[in-house]
This record gives sequence, structure tokens and C-alpha cells, in this order.
Amino acid sequence: MRPVTKIGWPQEDGNPKSYNSHTKAKIDLEGHLGCYCSYCEVFSSDLEVEHVISKDQDHTLSHDWNNFLVACGRCNGRDNKSNRNVDLSIMHFPHRNNTFLSFKYEEGGYVMVNPDLNGTASFTYAENILNLVGLDKIPGNPKYPNHNQNDTRWDHRRIAWEWADKYLTRFESGRLNPVQVAEFASQKGFFSIWFSVFSAHEDVKRELINIFMGTATNCFDPANGYQPIPRNPANIADPI
Ligand SMILES: [Zn+2]
Repeated sequence: MRPVTKIGWPQEDGNPKSYNSHTKAKIDLEGHLGCYCSYCEVFSSDLEVEHVISKDQDHTLSHDWNNFLVACGRCNGRDNKSNRNVDLSIMHFPHRNNTFLSFKYEEGGYVMVNPDLNGTASFTYAENILNLVGLDKIPGNPKYPNHNQNDTRWDHRRIAWEWADKYLTRFESGRLNPVQVAEFASQKGFFSIWFSVFSAHEDVKRELINIFMGTATNCFDPANGYQPIPRNPANIADPI
């Protein structure tokens, strides 16, 4: 899950901009985060303004810029996040944590909690957001015996991985430069998949971070090949 940096509350005539209809925030959100679902990372022209804390949980936050992200209808839909309760203190979110460290992506569309976190609180907090948005829903996962056939997010990841693999071959044979790879990736979405497939190529990782708008630059170490690094190092229990 791509970690992102949200800008502060946009201003209008010297005052915090009013979002009395929360859908008004879509242009401002997409303007600095790009048109990517905050959870499944798909590139889409059809994203929704998503309340991190739902209106049912706390209606006072329903027009609050700091409570908005963009998400696709599937991640934000009834099967998944919808109006379920969110406890920010025990869940990773892409605007608060280095959620690239929360998960591991694999060929075939698989997503799992990063096994390196095993036995830590961070593992549980990553698992909590995974379950909230149903990111590991894939046919055959025993956790979801009645997989909804219309939930094809896994298949988009599978295809994105194939594209990234194909581009890796072209890149390694010198037919593409890092910017060309990143520009193509940015029109497909799935930052985490591209970043995983190109893990050995720091020049490509640098361009991916640059081109995918709003990626949290403090989550990757430029002095060490853009390795992902904890975002909250002072938090002993959950530095992620
Ligand atoms: Zn999504």
C-alpha cells in the first residue's frame, strides 16, 4: 500500500476551504495524491472521496479535510471498508504509516502482511487494515470461502505484476530508461507492485517515487537505494 503525504487543509480566501459536500474534495485530493485508490492502488478516473472515520462513527468529521482519502468503490464499498469502525491507534493507514512496509506483494495478485513484522504490534495493525479493506480477497483464500466474483482487485494486481515483469526485462536489456518505466507504471497504478518488481533498481525506484504524485518521500531512504524505512521511528511499539 503506497504511503502518501497529504497536504494541509486547502485555503480559500484566507480561510480553510469548505467541504460542506465532501465530494468537492475530490479534485483537491487527486491534485496532490494522483488518481490512485489509497488502498488497492488502482489508477482510476472514478474514485470516491473516502471518510477514514465514517460518518456513522463520527459525523463531526464528515466535512473534515484531514479525514479524507480517495478510494475505489470496491475498497470503500459495502463488502469492505464502508462504514466499519476505524481505530487509528491500531490500524495502519497510508497517510500516517509507511504502509509499503506493512505488506508483501507477490506474483499472481497475492498480498499478505509483511512476514518480517511477525510477532510485533505492527503485524496486527497491518492485518487490521488488510481486513478492513479486504485487500487479500482472492479466489481460493480460505479466509473468504464465498469470494465475490465481482471483486477483481486481485486480478488487476496479477496483470500489473505481469506488466512490471515485462518492463523489467525490457529495462534490464537497455531498451527502456527509468523515466519511461515510471511513466508507464503511473498510468497503470499499483505503485507497490512496480516498486517490488524493480527492487534491485534504485534509479527506477527514485522515478516511481517522483512520478506517483503524493508518495511519502520520507518513507524511503535515498542514501540506501530507496529502501523503505519506518515512518514513526519514535513509536517503539509500532515504528511503521
Ligand atoms: Zn481500491
